[in-house]
Amino acid sequence: MQKKKATELQRAWGDKPCPHPAFSREYDMGERTGNYCCTQCGASVSFREKAEIMAARAEQDA
Ligand SMILES: [Zn+2]
Repeated sequence: MQKKKATELQRAWGDKPCPHPAFSREYDMGERTGNYCCTQCGASVSFREKAEIMAARAEQDA
């Protein structure tokens, strides 16, 4: 997902809570930033933050 699009999503989503159901790689001007964006709210997270969210969710589902 382009960073610009993620920023638009963030604006549209506002400050509602989001469980971050899915992430997409973040791109800026066609280059990978190394971060990920939530496809629902546009939040930008680092690879590590994404891994922690996914791990926490896996524990809840278990
Ligand atoms: Zn989210």
